[in-house]
Formats: sequence, C-alpha cells, structure tokens
Amino acid sequence: MEKLIDIIKKTTSYFLTKGIDHPQLTTELIFSHVLKCPRLDLYLQFDRNMQENVLAELRPLVLRRAKGEPIQYVLGESHFCDLKLKVTPDVLIPRPETEELIEKITKIYQNSLNIPLKILDLGTGSGAIALCLAQTFQNSQIIASDKSPAALEIAKINAKRNGIQNVTFLESDWFEKIEGVFDIIVSNPPYLTSDEWETAAPEVKEHEPKIALVAEQEGAADLIKILVTAKKYLKEGGLLCLESGIHHQSLLEQTAKDCSYSKYESLQDLSHRNRFFFAWS
Ligand code: GLN
Repeated sequence: MEKLIDIIKKTTSYFLTKGIDHPQLTTELIFSHVLKCPRLDLYLQFDRNMQENVLAELRPLVLRRAKGEPIQYVLGESHFCDLKLKVTPDVLIPRPETEELIEKITKIYQNSLNIPLKILDLGTGSGAIALCLAQTFQNSQIIASDKSPAALEIAKINAKRNGIQNVTFLESDWFEKIEGVFDIIVSNPPYLTSDEWETAAPEVKEHEPKIALVAEQEGAADLIKILVTAKKYLKEGGLLCLESGIHHQSLLEQTAKDCSYSKYESLQDLSHRNRFFFAWS
C-alpha cells in the first residue's frame, strides 16, 4: 500500500505538469481538507498507509483543481479576515483587496467601534464584507443584500457558521427593497470591463459568477448607480465605501461632485492602484 508521503509527491508533480501554481501547497491543502488535519501535520504521519476509500475522496478534488477550478471552490471554503467562509460558484471568492477595504473603514471608525451603527452591504455574495464588519462593529446592525437568492443562502450559512447574529439578509437588486438610512453603506459591486473579463484567468472566467464581476459602461454602471442612489440612504455625515476598478476614479469623483457629496476621496490598494472610493454625505 502506498504511503501518504508518496501520494503527496505524486500529486505535487501531477499539478506541476498541469501548470497549476503552488503545486505542493495545493496538494497539502486538498490532503489536509480530506484527512481533516492541519497542513503541517501531514508530515507527522508521512508513512501512513493510504486506504482506497481515502484515495477515492482525494482523486475527484485533485482532478477538479487540475482542470482549473479555483482551490476555494474545490475545497468549498475560503478565508477572509478572521472568517472561514463557505464558497460555491454562486458567489465570488473574496479577494485580498476587499480585506483592505475593511481595514480602511475600520481605521476611519477606530475610535467608535463600539457605537451602534446602521450598516448596509450591497451585493454581499458570500457575506464576506457584512460578516467581517459585523465582527468589527459588534454593537451595530448590518443589512446584507443581494439580488441572488443562491448567494444569500450561502451568506446566511456563513453567518451561522461564524456565530454572527447582528446581520440580517435581504433579497434586493441594489437599493430596490432597502428602507431607512445608514451610517455606512459599503459595496464591492461588479466593476470589470468586458475586455478585462475576456483576458481574465481561466480560473475566474470559467468558474466565477460573471454577474458579480462584469458591469456595463466600461465596468462603471453599477458603481455609478450605487453612488447616485446612496446619497439619500445615508445619514448626514454617513459614509459610502466602494471597491472599484482602477480606471474609475475620475468618473466617480465627477459623479460625487454632481450629487453634492460633502467630501470624497480615492484610495489606493497595496499595489498603489486607485481601488477604493469613499464619499461622505
Ligand atoms: N477584484 C476582482 C477581480 O479582479 C473584481 C471584483 C469585482 O468585480 N467586484 O477579479
């Protein structure tokens, strides 16, 4: 019978021949998922005999990743801030840029994290932003909306799995069903252009929901719609936080000016690209 270490080596070289990035890490992630042990503990049991039933569980996952499916969908989970989130092809895999968005919001409110705020997350997908803000702003009430019922189901599961109770979920196409006014409105809407979509990695293009990624008008349609409409859903001094494409800033600035936001600013991501747009009512 083959040993764990041999199968790890074989799988790693299989991923290598298939051109999969980080072949050894990918192997370890899949194996630790199936064997239900931390990644590094795999090597403590390197001479474990691999039973056929375990191999039968491993094989389909290895094949899915080898065919280009993102590792997060293969494992059915992704990490975001301190959360472990269920992800399926109904929701976008949360990106590191969006963790930066959370950091920027937290920094602005660092002295008032305990104040009860009303927060709205539009297009919540897996719930990443809403759930992370719910943890950060524990006394606040968060509404997480999405127009996709399938995405909302995932987001609800993620709230439960992470023991988060201060989020309510609402099926709504942007502001369609939203009532009331908010201290913070946040969104990571679709913002890729059709060209960016065409040239996206196969992992993205063939597996992630296009509806969550691509927008009309050179990727700006949803950003503009949210920016224009959000003004009347913000309390005085309330903040709208958007993640955006790197070419959208001047259009967003002009629109914020036309909508009479009192203050607005473009912020950069870690690679110094204009990635976020914040506007105060
Ligand atoms: N940053 C994502 C990507 O490049 C896009 C996210 C979005 O459209 N909201 O794949």
